[in-house]
Amino acid sequence: MKDYGWDEDIAARFEACAGPGLVPGRVVRQARDLSTLVTPLGELAAEVSGRFRHEAAGPADFPVVGDWVAAEPHADGPALIQALLPRRSAFARKAAGEEVEAQVAAANVDTVFLVTGLDGDYNLRRIERYLATAWSSGAAPVVVLNKADLREDLDEVVAEVERVAPGVPVVAASAVAGGGLEALLPYLAPGKTVALLGSSGVGKSTLINRLLGEERFATAPVSDAAAGRGRHTTTARELVRLPGGALLIDTPGMRELQLWAGEEDLDRAFEDVERLAARCRFPDCGHEAEPGCAVRAAAEDGSLDARRLESYLKLRREVRFMELKKDAKARRQQEKAKGRDFAARIKEIKRNKPRYR
Ligand code: GDP
Ligand code: ZN
Repeated sequence: MKDYGWDEDIAARFEACAGPGLVPGRVVRQARDLSTLVTPLGELAAEVSGRFRHEAAGPADFPVVGDWVAAEPHADGPALIQALLPRRSAFARKAAGEEVEAQVAAANVDTVFLVTGLDGDYNLRRIERYLATAWSSGAAPVVVLNKADLREDLDEVVAEVERVAPGVPVVAASAVAGGGLEALLPYLAPGKTVALLGSSGVGKSTLINRLLGEERFATAPVSDAAAGRGRHTTTARELVRLPGGALLIDTPGMRELQLWAGEEDLDRAFEDVERLAARCRFPDCGHEAEPGCAVRAAAEDGSLDARRLESYLKLRREVRFMELKKDAKARRQQEKAKGRDFAARIKEIKRNKPRYR
């Protein structure tokens, strides 16, 4: 179990919700309703119990890849998942369509590599967006600037990214040539869980193949075959052990992740803006057109990149819009519940009618 990240903290979480006959397990694969767990008894197929399904408040309560659970093994069928251990981190995304319901794509990720390509994809605003998502997950972000082989001015690029990612490690690397990848090793310690986030084409698959194919990143170029062509499938939802002992989560859900952050996460991703905001004349300054706005002043004198401020304001609008939608949904649900209470009271009154006569 240690190989899959079991530690004292997880053990304590298991103790807190364990019952007789329950074993701990980590979800390593998930297909529709059936999960595969790694347990002290080996790999087990598992599904949530009827009670679990009944008591779940929403989709976010169901186990996903990376989750730890307490399950009841059965000789003649899938194990029954009775409890979900509290998550250390979770990547939530908007469910498809208009619904504003969080769906969890992956859980208990220690470090998330935010991968950007140093080619046409390179975009500081996108990095800011991914950072907000990472902070909201609870996993620690590391920005990976891939395709470093295509740029000469790496020091400048890294410095520029460090400015939009205060306090976050920034690594320039080449998944194809192998350079720079050794800087990722500290995050790939045995039992640590990592995941990759980034738009299509930035080199996530190439990097994953690298991680799967090699333990210590030799800087010599490897042939396509050695890079593990065909080994990696992008359709299965899974958690795999890398040769060095770290655990890698790669699920389609992670690949489709959209921004799902709260305002606090934004403040974390834009610490510099927050610091400036403390000097605005109005404590609730929106940094749009208010007099005495220290943030706008900084953008005007160039000490804050004006595009970064624009990006911040745009993300904030997005986050607020999502929150409004969430509030509206909660209100609708409340109204519905109220309606149900009312209907129940009427029924009760009708049932008790004789007493009133
Ligand atoms: P994904 O969509 O994020 O999984 O990206 P892929 O791994 O499929 O890579 C997209 C393209 O970028 C492929 O043509 C890769 O060969 C190329 N690529 C990946 N890593 C590097 C790199 O470090 N340097 C260069 N020059 N190209 C790379
Ligand atoms: Zn302001």
